[in-house]
Amino acid sequence: MTLIIKIGGGEGISLSPILTELATLIRAEPALRVVLVHGGSHETNILSEKLGHPPRTITSPSGHTSRRTDRETLDIFTMVYCGRVNKSIVEHLQREGVNAVGLSGIDSAIWRGTRKSAIRAIEQGRTVIIRDDLSGTVDRVDADFLNLLLDTGRVPVLTPPAITDDGIAINVDADRAAARTAAALEADELLLLSNVPGVLRDPRDPGSLISRVDATTIESARAAAAGRMKNKVLAAEEAMQGIGGRPVPRVIIGSANGERPIASARAGAGTHFVGGALPAGVA
Ligand code: ADP
Repeated sequence: MTLIIKIGGGEGISLSPILTELATLIRAEPALRVVLVHGGSHETNILSEKLGHPPRTITSPSGHTSRRTDRETLDIFTMVYCGRVNKSIVEHLQREGVNAVGLSGIDSAIWRGTRKSAIRAIEQGRTVIIRDDLSGTVDRVDADFLNLLLDTGRVPVLTPPAITDDGIAINVDADRAAARTAAALEADELLLLSNVPGVLRDPRDPGSLISRVDATTIESARAAAAGRMKNKVLAAEEAMQGIGGRPVPRVIIGSANGERPIASARAGAGTHFVGGALPAGVA
């Protein structure tokens, strides 16, 4: 059984309970193969402000948002994601008896990606082209290397950035990187856990959860997802389609909060994507 869990780095997520739950799960089921992927967006925003380089957002013409990643932003991003957040997760898991190993996508080129050479963005109502952004998408995952770690009982804890073929570190979306990782490892389950209960029909109403997404309801989930939820729905679809590997049979977007978020999601909480490969979505 291979389980990929992505924990968000948004505001309001407390990592400690979920790491304790994960450690308990692994101790009870040592044959479980787990890869943990994490973000760090909220802490990056805080450090960016402190360092006098406030975060900026790029909004694409289709409404996707992403972090504007110039060189200085990438440096701050790396400090937070690969440093503070990654190492505090590894420290916590080690303290609970789990042999976690923290790596970024550039280590051993686990996540190979392509940099976006020209990004169309909307700025003050006008479309502009940004050419110096250090962001992109993951194309290939080094499953052999991750399997080496998993085969020896390690729990890889992975975080952006990824690396291009010519050796440039790029900021990539951690949800979509987790989806690629799940497909490449032929995982049984992908859990994308964040600060909301799942995909909501109305983002301001936590009671409006879409609990099940299949081929007939995917359009409404895509339409409901705004801002950063768009990437999660896209990631879920990519995992279901098995891009870069095998379709992941069980994909859940759920809450990282609560006492036992992993068990809750697996028991039915959150948004469950079902029904095999879904029709291609909008990137
Ligand atoms: P993380 O950093 O934890 O991975 P994000 O903050 O990036 O998570 O993404 C979740 C955010 O997406 C929510 O906090 C919410 O503001 C936003 N969002 C937009 N549309 C929706 C929706 N339809 N359902 C749930 N969340 C939504």
